[in-house]
Amino acid sequence: MLPVVALVGRPNVGKSTLFNRLTRTRDALVADFPGLTRDRKYGQANYEGYQFIVIDTGGIQGDEQGIDLHMAKQSLQAVDEADIVLFLVDARDGITAADLSIAEHLRRQQKDIWVVANKVDGLDADAAAADFYELGLGEVYHIAAAHGRGVNQLLNRTLEPLRESYPEVIAPAREVDDEDEASMIRQAEYYADQPIKIAIIGRPNVGKSTLTNRLLGEERVVVYDMPGTTRDSIYIDMERDGQKYTLIDTAGVRKRGRIDLAVEKFSVIKTLQAIEDANVVMLVIDARDQISDQDLSLLGFALNAGRSIVITVNKWDGLEQDAKDWVKQELDRRLGFADFARTHFISALHGTNVGHLFGSVKEAYASATQRVGTAQLTQIMEMAQDDHQPPLVRGRRVKLKYAHAGGYNPPLIVIHGNQVDSLPNSYKRYLMNYFRRALKVMGTPIKIEFREGA
Ligand code: GDP
Ligand code: GDP
Repeated sequence: MLPVVALVGRPNVGKSTLFNRLTRTRDALVADFPGLTRDRKYGQANYEGYQFIVIDTGGIQGDEQGIDLHMAKQSLQAVDEADIVLFLVDARDGITAADLSIAEHLRRQQKDIWVVANKVDGLDADAAAADFYELGLGEVYHIAAAHGRGVNQLLNRTLEPLRESYPEVIAPAREVDDEDEASMIRQAEYYADQPIKIAIIGRPNVGKSTLTNRLLGEERVVVYDMPGTTRDSIYIDMERDGQKYTLIDTAGVRKRGRIDLAVEKFSVIKTLQAIEDANVVMLVIDARDQISDQDLSLLGFALNAGRSIVITVNKWDGLEQDAKDWVKQELDRRLGFADFARTHFISALHGTNVGHLFGSVKEAYASATQRVGTAQLTQIMEMAQDDHQPPLVRGRRVKLKYAHAGGYNPPLIVIHGNQVDSLPNSYKRYLMNYFRRALKVMGTPIKIEFREGA
């Protein structure tokens, strides 16, 4: 489990600047999904050796009404569930009325709140920060998110105390060992023995509970890990056709056939933690509703976390042909970037097509964990290179030398070569698609890492 850091503050104080800095991809991993750059609200941060989930709560003005009030409430729920809250203020503006009203709200929560004065570049940082002690929330940190100044120190101070409850906050050193095929084989064997963990996620009312009950069917189930707080999911073991699964139920089904009547609060954080912990994410979308930005954000988070995906479009029963065509068009238009994920049109209510979901889950898991040897990967890489040469850079051709597996779940392919840093993204994508086709990888993102030299 990773801790959750929420960024709050009124608009324009620099939340998204900080968010982007914390979540920008490390290494030269190829995991970009064109079409998925907008509206990044949740991200997996990996910064200076720390890893955590970061949520940009959007702006809170402090005087919302109507729909804005609803959004502000959602932001505040994220605050409520986060482990750490970074309250950003603008060092250039000084304290504003909105800051005061947000501070007042935050003070009422039993939370670790850290006041962070941003944009101290070009200012006397200590003097600028001193202003904000008046908020009455204790110590004030100062950063310049745009330049990265102070961010490292801020994380040291805020995240170190979490090490005990979240050992995983410390990112493991990259453990890719070029020559160690034995380790790769051991890992693949490990995955083959494990139950497949499926997180069933989606917005409220899309049919997650109904689907969970359907998937459980007549199987005898063991429910464990009874939730302690709203942010804990329920884990349910089941077996089907000799394969063991663990359903990670974010909807709060306690017992087969008994849906809790007190509707569980939808919790973004619960969903993010479930994605983190899963092997395969089953994203449930409501065919009777628009595909929303939240659907896209959740999918984006799952992909960035490297999870395998199965998309289920639910409530397909009783739809007119026109409506069905429209939904399919929308899926192509908005979810085109995830076209490697299988999409199922189901009715959880009537059970239609639900059985097929397991096949796609198994396929995605197998794709994500299958062992592929160095010889085969190198051969595929060479075929790709023969079909379509890498470009010239400063008069010299980029040369790819060999490829080997660097990890599973998601599959990581490490390619060694000359001048690989100069490979354009278009060529990286070409390679990724080539590997995908050659290895018949379905349902999981692939990552490729390039290394200079042999
Ligand atoms: P948000 O609305 O809170 O997400 O704020 P943004 O991240 O969009 O930032 C608002 C504006 O402040 C943008 O023009 C940023 O470039 C600028 N900004 C953010 N961080 C800094 C900083 O550290 N120094 C300066 N000078 N400007 C910054
Ligand atoms: P959750 O909040 O995502 O867990 O959604 P629920 O499983 O509680 O379902 C929300 C509502 O949608 C309930 O009234 C369900 O009966 C209904 N529902 C769920 N699946 C289907 C379906 O396949 N077809 C139809 N027509 N309704 C469904």
